Amino acid sequence: MKIFVQPDEMRDWSRQQRANGLSTGCVPTMGALHEGHVSLIEVALRDCDRVIVTVFVNSLQFNNPDDYFNYPQLMDADTQICRDLGVDALYCPSPQTMYPSGFETHVLPGPISFPLEGVCRPDHFTGVATVVTKLFNATQPDRAYFGLKDIQQLAVIERMVTDFDLGIKIISVPTVRQPDGLALSSRNDRLTSDQKDKASMIYRGLQAANESFKNGERMSSALKSIANEVYAKIPEARIEYIEIFEAHNFIPIAEIGVNRSIMAVAVWFGDVRLIDNIEFAM
Ligand code: AMP
Repeated sequence: MKIFVQPDEMRDWSRQQRANGLSTGCVPTMGALHEGHVSLIEVALRDCDRVIVTVFVNSLQFNNPDDYFNYPQLMDADTQICRDLGVDALYCPSPQTMYPSGFETHVLPGPISFPLEGVCRPDHFTGVATVVTKLFNATQPDRAYFGLKDIQQLAVIERMVTDFDLGIKIISVPTVRQPDGLALSSRNDRLTSDQKDKASMIYRGLQAANESFKNGERMSSALKSIANEVYAKIPEARIEYIEIFEAHNFIPIAEIGVNRSIMAVAVWFGDVRLIDNIEFAM
């Protein structure tokens, strides 16, 4: 497995693959790799001749400095996981390489980034769009893989790729969960085992709402109440938002119609913030 820390070396290698007629896929991550990341990498390995994983904890997308400083950094373990999976190249630039002194240009996403995470985490998606642009420029992939767990991030990236004519195919990958339903996240490691048990209720609330949807309920207020009843059983969980919206614009709706509709939730356990979502389906 090749390991690159400089964008020009990464780009030269990627261009060489293309010159050899090989397709390339990129899986951007912030490291501390878990089975959710592995699932993205495995899909990429099936789709592409060459797979590049990027590991970079992006300071620009953290609106909370503590969250940034506490973010797990496990470079040796991540390298081994990528090697074992058969990844072709790992791109892991230093913060100084990514944002040298004098760096000042940002990518500003539009209205799809404004609600939900955009309200709770000001500038988060500007940081995401900026780093992903830089990662795409360095890795020059044909395809890039993103998890549905971060559904608004996926939408922001899809919009950016279209708006900027990047010519990269964005592939979405379903959320990988623990057997009890908790969506895997690098932040789960910061939960106590008691909090981890209780955090499985996040998905149970979403499922309860979807059961009601299957039984014919279409009003957002009723569906949200059903999830909130589940969340009321875990008083230590602080719900930051619970929202229902259509997948194409992320604007909250009062009633579900014919379009693909999503329920998303952000929950705090102590100082750890978790997000999850479900698409309403019969
Ligand atoms: P992160 O390292 O948290 O920035 O995530 C890197 C990529 O992995 C993003 O596209 C995430 O959406 C995706 N991802 C994170 N957790 C999961 C999960 N549990 N299932 C599927 N994809 C995930």
